[in-house]
This record gives sequence, structure tokens and C-alpha cells, in this order.
Amino acid sequence: MQALVKTEKGVGHLRLLEMPEPRPGPGEVLVEVRASGICGTDVHVKNDTFPYWPPVILGHEFSGVVVELGAECRHYKLGDRVVGEPHTRHCGQCYLCRTGNVQICPEKRSPGWGIHGSMAKYLVMPELLLHGIPDSMDFDTAAVVEPTANAVHDVLERAGVVAGDFVVVLGPGPIGLLAALTARAAGAREVVIVGAPADAGLRLDKARELGFENVLNIGKDDVVETVMDLTGSVGADLVVECSGAPAAIAGCVDLIRKKGRICAIGLTGGRTVEFPWEKAAFKVADIHFCLSTSYTSWERAIHLMATGQIPAGEVITHRLPLSDWEKAFEEIETLRALKVILYP
Ligand SMILES: [Zn+2]
Ligand SMILES: [Zn+2]
Repeated sequence: MQALVKTEKGVGHLRLLEMPEPRPGPGEVLVEVRASGICGTDVHVKNDTFPYWPPVILGHEFSGVVVELGAECRHYKLGDRVVGEPHTRHCGQCYLCRTGNVQICPEKRSPGWGIHGSMAKYLVMPELLLHGIPDSMDFDTAAVVEPTANAVHDVLERAGVVAGDFVVVLGPGPIGLLAALTARAAGAREVVIVGAPADAGLRLDKARELGFENVLNIGKDDVVETVMDLTGSVGADLVVECSGAPAAIAGCVDLIRKKGRICAIGLTGGRTVEFPWEKAAFKVADIHFCLSTSYTSWERAIHLMATGQIPAGEVITHRLPLSDWEKAFEEIETLRALKVILYP
């Protein structure tokens, strides 16, 4: 089968190669991939800025159909339409696994960087990490369940957004927009979306298209002043930081009210952040760091997407055959695309 493979360590080294079709072992199923989204993680693996074990097939944001069952599979059957949590190879025995946090087990090796991923015709997945998707959900949209589950886990389960909250989202990439849609689905009274001048075209336009009215550009707008105006000088209940930009991270404290929350999602790429610790202390801020997803966030994401409460499929801007992977990565890295779906 054709697969997009990171062949060795270093920058680049992506190639479309002929790879052997995998076989499911005990407790595993073979999934025929119908759609595979490109995640920031895939771009980081391409650019050598995320851990990975080459040679490895990229991709973990997939949807597909179960086409073969390994021994001891009991819950799924042939033809089932599925998505799957990328918490493969978690050990099941460490403190984190035993306390229900398999997503951050130190032994976890996910599809796309630790084991072969979904940018290929077939992918092997443990049955216990699958979720069924409703017939009404198309495969492209289903491939966006994974990043949506991240947004749901971070914004709902970690940062605890509640109805009536005033929310500010910094960084209007796919995760930022999904976080904004999630906050709105949870009943936020206002979601302000903030981008940089480079986001002015596609990303901020998409935010307006999704119905957000207060879409700000730090190159033109005074974000603190706008948020204070809109909240009667109280400040936001929650700031969701998805940009990873050190200046934006430091600025979160100015946007929240006293006892407000910061939901930290964006990664800085290892840059050091100068953070106004004392200011955060006097604001009695809660900061929630976020990584990966939970079982419940997948179920919530699937239901909220299926009912249209989170129109996650709207962040898809490009649909391309796997053979066009080079163009797909380029469109993402030059900010001309949001979510790109590849068809193996
Ligand atoms: Zn992802
Ligand atoms: Zn573990």
C-alpha cells in the first residue's frame, strides 16, 4: 500500500513509499482509512520538532471502516465506521494509566510518530481505543473528531467553561477555532477570537464565517481595551491560549478577571516565556495546562458534532489525494489552509 513515511531523523525526509499492509494482532482491528487529517503534530514530525521513531507512517486524525478483526475482538464488527484515540502502547500499569490517564502515559507511542499511522490505506488499531461514529457523520467530518476531542477536553473538561462565560481565544488555527466552537456550544455568552496579522486572511475570515462577531487582529486592535469594554472592565472569565506565542501567553493575565482561568493549549516550540507571575498571583488566576484527550471528550465531541452543536467540519479547507501531500503540507505551513483532509 502507498503510505506517507517519515523515513529517517532530521528535517524533511517525507516520502510516499510502498509499505506492507499491516495485519491485526489479538485485540486489534484493521481499519481501512477513508479520511486522514493533517495535524500540527505531523508538521512538527516533518520539521523534526516532535519526538518520533522512524521509519514511521504519519497521521493520527483518521476515520475509516473496520475490515478485519484480530483474535479476541468482541465489541466491533466488520463494516463498523470508526475513529480512534491515539493512546496506543500505553502501558496500563503506571500511576497515570492506573488512574485513568492513559493519554499521558510515558510509554505511549501514538500512530503517526510512535507507530505506523493513518496516511495509508490501512491502519491497525487496538479495539479498546475505537469509538463508533453515527451514520449521519461523513468520513471527512469524522476525521476532525480527534482535534475536536482535544478542544472539548481542554475547554470543557480542564478549564470548565460554563454557560454565560465570557471567553477569549488567542490563535485562530484549527484548534483555536474548534475551542471557540466548543465554548460557544457550552453556552459562552461571548467568544472573542484574536489573531496576528498573518491570520488576517483565511483564519480570521473563517472565524467571522463561523458567526463570531468580535474577531480581533493584534496588528490593528487593542485587545485588552476591547475585552475590558465588552466586560464592563471586569475581564474575561476564561482565556484559551492556542497561539504558543510567548507575548500572547504573557498577555493572558491582562485579559482575565480576578479569579479568571487560563486554558494553556498552544506550545511554544521550546521557547522560554517571560510570564507576569506576580500579576497572576494578585489576580488569583487558575492556569490549566492541557495535553491530549480523554475517553469522555471523544464521546462528547462525537455527540456535539453529530447534533450540529459543534460544526467541526467547517474548519476543513482542503481535500486532497494522499499523493498531493507535498502541496497539502505547504498550504498549511504558509497559513493558506486550516484543516486538510488527505484520502489514501
Ligand atoms: Zn491531532
Ligand atoms: Zn502507563
